[in-house]
Amino acid sequence: MKRFLLAYLALVALVALAWGWALPLDGAGGAPPSAWAVREHALTLTGLWAFALMSLAMVLATRPARLEGVFGGMDRIYRVHKWAGILAIGLAALHWRVELSDGLIKTFFGRDGRLPKAHGSNLFEAMRDLGEDFGELAVYALLAMLVLTLWKRFPFRLWRHLHKIMPVLYLMLAFHAAFLAPIGYWTQPVGMLLGLLIACGSAASVHALAGWIGRSRRSAGVIESVEEPAPGLTRVRCRLDAPWPGHRAGQFAFVAFDRVEGDHPFTLASADRGDRRVTFEIKALGDYTRGLAQRLHAGARMTAEGPYGRFDLAPDDSGRPQIWVAGGIGVTPFLAWLEALQDTPAQAPDADLYYCVRSRDDDPFVGRLEALTRTLPGVRLHVLSSAQGERLDARRLAAHAPGSARPAVCFCGPHGLLGALRRELAAAGLGGIRIRHEAFEMR
Ligand SMILES: Cc1cc2nc3c(=O)[nH]c(=O)nc-3n(C[C@H](O)[C@H](O)[C@H](O)COP(=O)(O)OP(=O)(O)OC[C@H]3O[C@@H](n4cnc5c(N)ncnc54)[C@H](O)[C@@H]3O)c2cc1C
Repeated sequence: MKRFLLAYLALVALVALAWGWALPLDGAGGAPPSAWAVREHALTLTGLWAFALMSLAMVLATRPARLEGVFGGMDRIYRVHKWAGILAIGLAALHWRVELSDGLIKTFFGRDGRLPKAHGSNLFEAMRDLGEDFGELAVYALLAMLVLTLWKRFPFRLWRHLHKIMPVLYLMLAFHAAFLAPIGYWTQPVGMLLGLLIACGSAASVHALAGWIGRSRRSAGVIESVEEPAPGLTRVRCRLDAPWPGHRAGQFAFVAFDRVEGDHPFTLASADRGDRRVTFEIKALGDYTRGLAQRLHAGARMTAEGPYGRFDLAPDDSGRPQIWVAGGIGVTPFLAWLEALQDTPAQAPDADLYYCVRSRDDDPFVGRLEALTRTLPGVRLHVLSSAQGERLDARRLAAHAPGSARPAVCFCGPHGLLGALRRELAAAGLGGIRIRHEAFEMR
């Protein structure tokens, strides 16, 4: 993700520098550039970067399923969306600081070298003034949004409603960019880039404001049963209506049981049997999921949007040993994988599934995992119960990599456990191994 965002920013800078730089950086006769020229370049580059990132974040917010292959799944698209947004706000704040630097430059360098402002008709000037006001207002609103995003204690539900203002802020920024970009831009390739960003970001904003995000992938359905197999766990079985295309084991859907609450991402924790029946295993992890079993009932309508995600059980013909690690409710994609393999046990890979739980004795999934792995001799189940002092350690992991064989590692679970797994692999001398994982957090 970091590499992608850096490459994106480098590309934008390249277009601006290579073809579109409207102002010469050198002073006359090879003299050093004036502070005013540097300010102007800093202003346009930070503005362009911030706007390019904001446009990217806006487009990714529309859940573009076609880009899942490029990014490696919708959970990753959301991560890029989040960091593109955070970086964009940082750069927009920097852009604003540079804009305010003229007083300082006047004090230290005087007015010499100040670049003349391009003037247009009265209407154009009025639009530029409005664009400036929009930009200023949007930067303040974005900074407030950034604080709420990073402040994890701020309730997600409220944050989500406030976040709906983003397309409006984007349209204000697009107006700002269109009227305040240097006029010389529009005859350069950088003008084409800016025009493309404005068009894509504005189309995405309108799409979001109209409520069209995910509309073509949404299916209505009915809840068939609701169970509470253990305190804090809700199992919901649903039957979806006709447009539901089916899913691959390991994918997820945005599910809405309640129109006012809106959708939440949950893994499709059952294999696809072609009958549009799906199961969700939902752990009480917050405001909405707490007490969910008491609020849902059979016969109620619901919607599922999807399927999304690339955390599927890929056929592995490399012969490498596989390590699957599930932490707590992160077991859901593995349940779907194991269920999907029941009809074709010969296709099951040689894998060790580590299921890390608090207490094996009252865990609702251990029995099901034992039953599902019993028919798959290639898949060995290891339940590690922290209440009994068991944990995934370097010694166990190193045992899967005899000689030069590098195991393929798939992970789904809490972030802390992923960090611990990375440390354990490094301690076992397997630090170079890439871990395929599903991110259960989008904020
Ligand atoms: C790809 C994916 C698959 C998931 N699969 C499962 C699963 O099979 N079983 C399960 O129990 N949990 C799953 N989760 C987590 C589940 O979505 C959250 O636990 C749930 O949405 C929490 O809602 P809440 O209102 O109770 O909690 P809150 O306290 O409001 O939120 C807790 C955290 O959950 C996330 N979250 C909450 N609401 C949303 C939303 N509408 N959209 C996106 N993220 C949200 C945010 O990161 C938030 O910080 C999955 C998450 C993702 C991203």
